Amino acid sequence: MSKAAPFYEKGLRFQCQGSGNCCTSHGEFGFVFLTIDDRRRFAKHLKTSTAVFTRKYCDLKDGVWHLKEDPKNPDCMFLKNKRCSVYEARPTQCRTWPFWPEVMNPKSWTKEVASFCPGVGKGPLRSKAEIETTILEDFENSKKFGS
Ligand code: SF4
Repeated sequence: MSKAAPFYEKGLRFQCQGSGNCCTSHGEFGFVFLTIDDRRRFAKHLKTSTAVFTRKYCDLKDGVWHLKEDPKNPDCMFLKNKRCSVYEARPTQCRTWPFWPEVMNPKSWTKEVASFCPGVGKGPLRSKAEIETTILEDFENSKKFGS
């Protein structure tokens, strides 16, 4: 039996518009999870140690580190004036957005991603191969969340 072509078979247009909308908690997409590599990169960028960075900026949930949340503010703590203030060192999870395995289905893409991300439908056509490379990168990254 042949597998049905994915909805992004002919590619998808996407280019970040700098809205900062993906840096604001959207229910299940609320947490910014971090691997040990993400925390090391952050620490280097902020000129501190990984231990200090982790203590100051991270919380542990079910054995996985994520950036601390402010219950009164849904924005990521590194979002300043609608821009990521740590863009060069941003976590892999942020870099692979919006090509995450859990949203790469027609329903999630149109009802969730496209509804708050103005980059959908803009910019260069991302090929199926490029999309699948990013999906895989995000998937492999998420396997290291416990590190
Ligand atoms: S680290 Fe940067 S890109 Fe990631 S959610 Fe925070 S502000 Fe957005």
